[in-house]
Amino acid sequence: MSVNSTSLPFIPFTRPSFNQETIDAVAEVLRSGWVTSGPKLAEFEATLSEYFGGRPVRCFANGTATMKIALQVAGIGEGDEVITTPISWVATSNVILGVGAKPVFVDIDPISRNIDLNEVANAITPNTRAIMPVYLAGLPVNMDQLYALANQYHLRVIEDAAQAFGSKWKNRKIGSFGDLVSFSFQANKNLSTVEGGCLVLNNADEAKVAEKLRLQGLTRQGIDGMDVDMLGGKDNLTDVNAVIGLHQLKQLPSFQARRTALARQYFDAIRTEVKSAGIENLKLELPVENFIDSNWHMFQVVLPLEQLNVDRAQVMAELKDLGIGTGVHYPAITGFTLYQNLGYQTQDTPIAERIGRSIMTLPLFPGMTDEDIGRIAKALVGILKKYAKS
Ligand SMILES: *Cc1c(COP(=O)(O)O)cnc(C)c1O
Repeated sequence: MSVNSTSLPFIPFTRPSFNQETIDAVAEVLRSGWVTSGPKLAEFEATLSEYFGGRPVRCFANGTATMKIALQVAGIGEGDEVITTPISWVATSNVILGVGAKPVFVDIDPISRNIDLNEVANAITPNTRAIMPVYLAGLPVNMDQLYALANQYHLRVIEDAAQAFGSKWKNRKIGSFGDLVSFSFQANKNLSTVEGGCLVLNNADEAKVAEKLRLQGLTRQGIDGMDVDMLGGKDNLTDVNAVIGLHQLKQLPSFQARRTALARQYFDAIRTEVKSAGIENLKLELPVENFIDSNWHMFQVVLPLEQLNVDRAQVMAELKDLGIGTGVHYPAITGFTLYQNLGYQTQDTPIAERIGRSIMTLPLFPGMTDEDIGRIAKALVGILKKYAKS
């Protein structure tokens, strides 16, 4: 079934890769008689802990629950302020509101599209308790600068590393150092358990609190009797999800190599097409060309809308018509009705406002072919040329 104007197969903006071994392992868990949190979860957490250099790791039902529990572990709540970025999935600031704290948005750096760490100090007040950076598309912030700021102002860091599984900083894995580091294993992420997430913690005491928070605040059950000593929720990860994660970890190096190779091809293909179309004057913004630290979760371009007689929605619609899926990650959170009603204004972070309005995610996932990249670059540049203001 094809609804587009081409006979070529549709390329979605992303697609998860689960191999036969993973599918067989899921079937085995389903037949085992124990399907919720159990031995596979314990094995997944132990394997993740080893992956992160021995730091404690606990898993949760999704990345949002993981970040909420990270804030609770850090003791952040009513009256506290948390500094974060307006360009993220809305979960980032929703969880801050959810624990009763106040998100404080600092504008982004237009090159990295991450929070501008040079602006963080200006946003600190006596109520600031934490910084919550986001590594958009898997590109980390300057981690030395981040932790220098945190030390200087005595702030906790809750890293929203949802998109950064496998990313590095100076040859160290994101998550293997730092304060509280939260990952998501949602279907679109580089490593997926369908839905899920994990938190890297500092010590066994924090891990104990995280365990209680994910299961009703339970301290014990069984023949010793039952007790609850704090208010927890129901945010546990099941063995079905955990066994998927164990197999995704084995595939991760090949996923990573493929994503990096495809990203390299994008730069080459887009530049070649721009040159042959003679539209070098258009300020099409490409990602930071970082093949060492980034896990290439996404490949995003920022459209030069002021130089075009077209808006982003129309560009996306025409690409779709050519059999190419795209996404928007993300409009500035401060523009959403909930946040406007709380008094936030998009003009306060003008770079985020512009990029949120003009950013577009091109397809990037391990199952793509080299030909797909060429086809996408040609289609994108063709549309830009058609609508370029003279
Ligand atoms: C995916 C994502 C989350 C939330 O993860 P879920 O597993 O969907 O709850 C949070 N922040 C960012 C930046 C994300 O990309």
